[in-house]
Amino acid sequence: MVSADRVYKNFGALEVLKGVSLEVQRGEVACLIGPSGSGKSTFLRCVNHLEKVNAGRLLVDGDLIGYREKAGRLYELSPREAGRQRRDIGMVFQHFNLFPHRTVVDNIIEAPVLVAGESKESATDHAMELLDQVGLRAKAEAYPAQLSGGQQQRVAIARALAMKPKLMLFDEPTSALDPELVGDVLEVMRGLAADGMTMVVVTHEMGFAREVADQLVFMDGGVVVEKGDPRRILSDPQHERTQSFLSKLL
Ligand code: ATP
Ligand code: MG
Repeated sequence: MVSADRVYKNFGALEVLKGVSLEVQRGEVACLIGPSGSGKSTFLRCVNHLEKVNAGRLLVDGDLIGYREKAGRLYELSPREAGRQRRDIGMVFQHFNLFPHRTVVDNIIEAPVLVAGESKESATDHAMELLDQVGLRAKAEAYPAQLSGGQQQRVAIARALAMKPKLMLFDEPTSALDPELVGDVLEVMRGLAADGMTMVVVTHEMGFAREVADQLVFMDGGVVVEKGDPRRILSDPQHERTQSFLSKLL
C-alpha cells in the first residue's frame, strides 16, 4: 500500500530525509519511532503530499504521489489531481485541529459534503456510524471544547475515516493527551487495525507497537536504521543507535 524507495527531502540546505525506503503492505500497521528531528513527521507529510519529495519514489496503492509518469518522465500533478490523491489518505495529528465553532457531527461531515459531494443525509448517517465506532455517538451535538482531549482525538479519527481512506497516517496521536486518556484512543486504533486498515503510526507507545504493529521502523538522522518485527527489535535491537534510543524510552 505504501512503497517508499530511496526518498529524499530537504528544506533548503537542511537534508531531512536521506534515502528512506519502506514497504507497508495492505492491511499492515507500521509504527515509526526515532529521536526528535529524525524526519518522522516529514516522511508522513511526504506520503500525504503535504511536502514534495526531492528524489526517490513514493507510491501509495500503486500511484506515484504528486507525479504522473509518462514515457519515462515525471510530470507534477495539478493541485486538483494532488487533492484527489490526498483524499484517499487520512491523517491524524498530535493536535486534533477540530473546527471549534462546529458540532462534532458537523466536523465529521464537512469534507464528505464539501469535498466529496455527498448528501448531508448520507454523510450524517455515516458520521453516526463512525461515532459509534469511536464510542462517541452521545456526543454528536457537542462542541469540541466540551470534550476531553481524548474524545476530541477520537472525533478527529472519525473525521479522517469519513472520507473512506485506504490508508491512515497518525503523527503522535496520543502524545498531547493526559495519560489516562491515551488508552481510549489506542483502543480505537487497535480496532481499526483489527478491521484491516493500513496504518502508519508515529508513536512512542511501545506497548501498542509491540502488540499491534506488523513492522517497527526506527529512524535516525533521516534514514531508516532498523526495521522489522516489533518484538524482535524491542527485545534485541541490532544497531547501537536503536539500542541507545530504546534504552532512553524505557
Ligand atoms: P519530532 O519527534 O520532534 O516530531 P520528527 O522526527 O517528526 O521529530 P521532523 O518534524 O520530520 O522530525 O523534522 C525533521 C527536521 O526537519 C527538523 O530538523 C525540522 O526542523 C526540519 N523541518 C521540518 N519541517 C520543516 C520545514 N517546513 N521547513 C524547514 N525545516 C523543517
Ligand atoms: Mg514529528
